[in-house]
Amino acid sequence: MEKKPFTFETKRSRIVFGNGCRHQIADELVACGLSRALVLSTSNQIEQAEEISNILGPSAIGTFSLAAMHTPVEVTKQAIKVFDEAHADCIVAIGGGSTTGLGKAIAFRKNTPQFVLPTTYAGSEVTSILGQTENGIKKTVKDPSILPEVVIYDPELTCELPVGMSVSSGLNAMAHAVEALYAQDRNPISSMMAVEGIRALKEALLKIVEAPDDLEARGTALYGAWLCGTVLGAVGMAFHHKLCHTLGGSFDLPHAETHAILLPHTAAYNQTVAKHVLAPATALFGGDLGRGLFELSRRLAAPQKLTDIGFGHSMINRASDIAMQNAYWNPRKVTQKGVMAVLTNATDGNPPCSS
Ligand code: NAD
Repeated sequence: MEKKPFTFETKRSRIVFGNGCRHQIADELVACGLSRALVLSTSNQIEQAEEISNILGPSAIGTFSLAAMHTPVEVTKQAIKVFDEAHADCIVAIGGGSTTGLGKAIAFRKNTPQFVLPTTYAGSEVTSILGQTENGIKKTVKDPSILPEVVIYDPELTCELPVGMSVSSGLNAMAHAVEALYAQDRNPISSMMAVEGIRALKEALLKIVEAPDDLEARGTALYGAWLCGTVLGAVGMAFHHKLCHTLGGSFDLPHAETHAILLPHTAAYNQTVAKHVLAPATALFGGDLGRGLFELSRRLAAPQKLTDIGFGHSMINRASDIAMQNAYWNPRKVTQKGVMAVLTNATDGNPPCSS
């Protein structure tokens, strides 16, 4: 174990995990003294929202199914109008990071309790971070009111997540854990959770690509996603997340896929300098973390080129300028040359380079 001094805080989320546990949602509301839930989803998950409303029975007083990527403030305002008119007393969000984001945006403004049923591996449900977009600019806020009170992880809800999305979302989760291992404010618990999260997701994703409805593998993946999300909420992120934020915010690239493509390259960038703290994860990938992650993403048929998701060579200069604008901590100094090398390799789908 590292002998480094540390601080460790426990947060207030209650986690309920297990196949079929979505059926406990009504009891969870009762236990919190709540009885008027507004159910949130995207327009793609209306059926799942209806199922949850049916389980809630009279405790579901309405649905709002317009959650969208990057949490646009206009959508939040519409949802708050519905929430107020229905005299709702809590939020039940079923979906991925976009739906969770809408619930958080409402909670941030109205300090209302949130119950989240995650259906992807993004991990937003266990962080007190909200990213929201107004006039084309995405800003991040962190506040205790944003952290959901109850998270209900039911692997059955993830069985219909398409394989491609499952893979990208799982690699997105692993990226939280890789960065948590070298975080400045890491602690022994966050590092333990990070390694276990990476291990679980690696094992599960390889099974899910073969059999998408393998419920045991879905459970293992969701367990890994919970661990990876928890460390995202607990410690600071670095180069990888900053670069993904730049590509998502300024070039409108899709969230999970951007993380999936960049992870082998950013891990390789940091792996020599952070060798000691990355060692338990490196051991899971045959002794070379960047190359091992690249090989895993190939086996999972994950996207490997930024050109496949709308980014081209002509954008590299601007992206690296933006990524260099605000200084942030990273175990290895982030240089313009380094950012450009990472982006060039990721644009072309080349193997990662750690020099
Ligand atoms: P998403 O929530 O946008 O989902 C992508 C699409 O997949 C949506 O149409 C959704 O309805 C659909 N979908 C989700 N689960 C499904 C299922 N089980 N079956 C069928 N369809 C399903 O994608 P995401 O990657 O989970 O979330 C991305 C968003 O979350 C981004 O805006 C990102 O910034 C945010 N995020 C925030 C944090 C945080 O801590 N604040 C962490 C991670 C991600």
